[in-house]
Amino acid sequence: VNTPSAVPTPPTAAPQGAALWAPRAWLPGGWADGVTLRVDAQGRWADVQANTVAPSGAQVLTAPVLPGLVNAHSHAFQRAFLAQSERRHSTHDDFWTWRDRMYGVALRITPQQLHAVACHLYTELLAGGYTHTCEFHYLHHQADGTPYADEATMCRALAQAAQDTGMGLTLLPVLYERAGFAQPQLRADQRRFAAPVARVLRLRDAVRGWGLPGVWAGVAVHSLRAAAPQSLLDLAHACAGDPGPIHIHIAEQTAEVDACLATTGARPIEWLTRQLPLDARWHLVHATHATPAEIAAVAATGAGVVLCPGTEANLGDGLCDLPAWLASGTPLAVGSDSQVTRSWPEELRWLEYGQRLHLRQRNVAAAPAQQQPATAERLFAAVLKGGAGAAGHTSTGLQPSARADLLVVNTQDPAFAGVPNTHLLDAVVFAAAAQPFSHVMANGRWLTLHDAAQQGRAAAAMAALSLELLDG
Ligand SMILES: [Zn+2]
Repeated sequence: VNTPSAVPTPPTAAPQGAALWAPRAWLPGGWADGVTLRVDAQGRWADVQANTVAPSGAQVLTAPVLPGLVNAHSHAFQRAFLAQSERRHSTHDDFWTWRDRMYGVALRITPQQLHAVACHLYTELLAGGYTHTCEFHYLHHQADGTPYADEATMCRALAQAAQDTGMGLTLLPVLYERAGFAQPQLRADQRRFAAPVARVLRLRDAVRGWGLPGVWAGVAVHSLRAAAPQSLLDLAHACAGDPGPIHIHIAEQTAEVDACLATTGARPIEWLTRQLPLDARWHLVHATHATPAEIAAVAATGAGVVLCPGTEANLGDGLCDLPAWLASGTPLAVGSDSQVTRSWPEELRWLEYGQRLHLRQRNVAAAPAQQQPATAERLFAAVLKGGAGAAGHTSTGLQPSARADLLVVNTQDPAFAGVPNTHLLDAVVFAAAAQPFSHVMANGRWLTLHDAAQQGRAAAAMAALSLELLDG
């Protein structure tokens, strides 16, 4: 049953035609009252009208609704060792010791295990308010490093998980070909990742060729350290004219900045903005260690930045210069990355709290001079737009032609008691509700937010992987 099939099968068709009515909804201009929404046959909004009474026959929602958000950066397999790298066993513990643990799982996970783990993860992410995920996917090969007979086997596992849960998916096959700036070969424990430009493009085209609802593909580059400059240029050239997004990890770690400086004479973002024709299709993941000049250079290209505050905190990466990124007008998105947090309210809360701790100020992301005093509303509006760009969507939010993705705020959660309607989004981000959303729609379908059987399969897969790690 729920294992990756030869061709991923789509979910059941979206029920359509009937109207939805919500007492309050977050439209592109902000909150509106009495909103009627209609879904078309393709799972997109056909019509959105504010200041209406519920049409006869409409499905009447009893709580305010928000558009679903894009999770702009995910490695689904990393969910498999959640909470299993939180112990220090030596005097030294940083990103690179965590990476060794991560490689232990990356070297072992099978397509069936990846599918099981991804199904559970995507359901958790739906409950956390994400209705679309960008998978930064580099687990291409069998455990011994030889390609699968069908080289898209691991892509199929992820696409099938998206279809089984209803999660939207932008799959980003990753260019990965060397171990470091001065190491032109891959390490033995990176053998599953090997993918030159031609393979990346084949995988992208294979995923697009499946024609699955809500599933699309772009490309990615693991990082400047993992790809030769000529390969980066070749990939950019091959993607000229293609509308798909192009993602790259960059400047996450100071060690990477130092190595880039030592070999190229430039900092990573400095090098990228000088050497490549960046544009709005490009999304720089993390971009944590960026100077004001680098931020200005990125802003001038139209490229976006994907922040992963939960993971960046967990891995001890450092803090980005959020005020400078916001002031620059760079499109911003958030991602669950290593999956230590799987809800956007928590991700946005971490994003703002990191800045408060660092700057010893409050409401750092607010912009009162621009009549945007609400921190949560400014951040939400920014990442709604930036996330859509990262996924390659041309429209987003509750408006005609955007995908019919919707979150019903769980106003029954005790965290929302006493919060005025005007401050609901502030509460979603800062009141830390245990279950912020009661119902989630993606592609015009109401989705399951907990599936015990699916969770059991994921737990079994994770237990098997943990045992192997302990044995091996
Ligand atoms: Zn990542």
